[in-house]
Amino acid sequence: MSDLLARHRAVIPNWVALYYNEPIEIVSGKGNRVVDASGKSYLDFFAGILTNMIGYDVPEVREAVERQLATGVVHTSTVYLLRGQIELAEKIARLSGIPDAKVFFTNSGTEANETALLLATYARKSDQVLAMRQSYHGRSFGAVGVTSNRAWKNNSYSPVNATFLHGADRHLPQFAGLSDADYIKVCVEDLRHVLATSVSNDVAALIAEPIQGVGGFTMAPDGLFAAYKEVLDEEGILFISDEVQTGWGRTGSAFFGIQNHGVTPDMMTFAKGLGNGFAVGGIVARGDLMDNLHAVGLATFGGNPISMAAANATLDYVLDHDLQANAARTGALIIDGLREAAKRLPIVTSVRGKGLMFAVELASSELAARFMEESKKLGLLAGKGGLYGTAIRMAPPLTLTMDEAAEGLGIIVNALEIINDEVR
Ligand code: PLP
Repeated sequence: MSDLLARHRAVIPNWVALYYNEPIEIVSGKGNRVVDASGKSYLDFFAGILTNMIGYDVPEVREAVERQLATGVVHTSTVYLLRGQIELAEKIARLSGIPDAKVFFTNSGTEANETALLLATYARKSDQVLAMRQSYHGRSFGAVGVTSNRAWKNNSYSPVNATFLHGADRHLPQFAGLSDADYIKVCVEDLRHVLATSVSNDVAALIAEPIQGVGGFTMAPDGLFAAYKEVLDEEGILFISDEVQTGWGRTGSAFFGIQNHGVTPDMMTFAKGLGNGFAVGGIVARGDLMDNLHAVGLATFGGNPISMAAANATLDYVLDHDLQANAARTGALIIDGLREAAKRLPIVTSVRGKGLMFAVELASSELAARFMEESKKLGLLAGKGGLYGTAIRMAPPLTLTMDEAAEGLGIIVNALEIINDEVR
């Protein structure tokens, strides 16, 4: 164990720095690559943790933050008018497609989801919330209540009264062989059954990740959430789409993940990539819901001028360079390549994804751990996850070039081949 890792283990909780046996210390970054303390360079196929959405040391973001710093105003609080915050809210409200949308900024995805839960339970006067099996929505008292992924829910209690739905669990034997349409039908019947038999009063909301993040990039079939929404609308139940991992064009086929399902939700929550590393989270919701935020709608650091400068520059960059189209293009190259390679690699049990959000499922958690070490050795950083620690999750910066996509694909396949040979 390195000296720094020993010091880390002594003062930081055990679960932090969890993906690698010997986590590296990243000391610099440029473009879509980072460099560790030994000088080794890596292609970052996890974009930090989906945070460095447009890569490292982006001049547009750095200069926007430096311009704000030069004014002397790092923070003044949301009791004043903040131009950067208003501009960013205007853009997000427009992009969301939610009618009469308003935006409230937080510092993280957890806080954003907490706010969405407060708004929904207040609007519906109900503590009943629906969420998805295998979900993850954050680490606060309310957010862990709508989290069902065992690994990420462990050791927590919550006051939220949640019921968990099917929709992202097609791997279960009872769903084997069902077409998308039939699986959706079963899920919708189950939702109706839950509402008729298994809740105590009016339900406030359904919260769902369009593609589950730490759940292993597990995907509900396109159209599932539209089918759910029809039932929810009949009952007046609100729909919260957690876009913390799926927003800003990452899926290639839509700007927000839920738009792949043809759904306009009542609220969307976001964080991770918007500030390109600077802490920005938030919620965009129907204005009538949002205006219920009174004192709970004042976050001391939410929407601060530095974060807003970074986020405006990042979002403008994504739009100006049409990075959604780039995610579709580069993601297709990688996903197609992985599917092709998987045919001759028995250790790979599934390849899934949309755009620059894709996963390779391996036959055991030991193999996944081994992949993490081997790919790191070969110069590529990834993430781990899934219900059983068997999914390798990858979400490179949306600025990934076609050359880097081909290079990354080569490293992933190389690592898989080495591990496949070891177990033969
Ligand atoms: N929601 C989803 C889907 C996430 O993946 C995460 C973090 O990984 C969160 C919420 C929590 O966000 P944060 O870590 O910024 O609090």
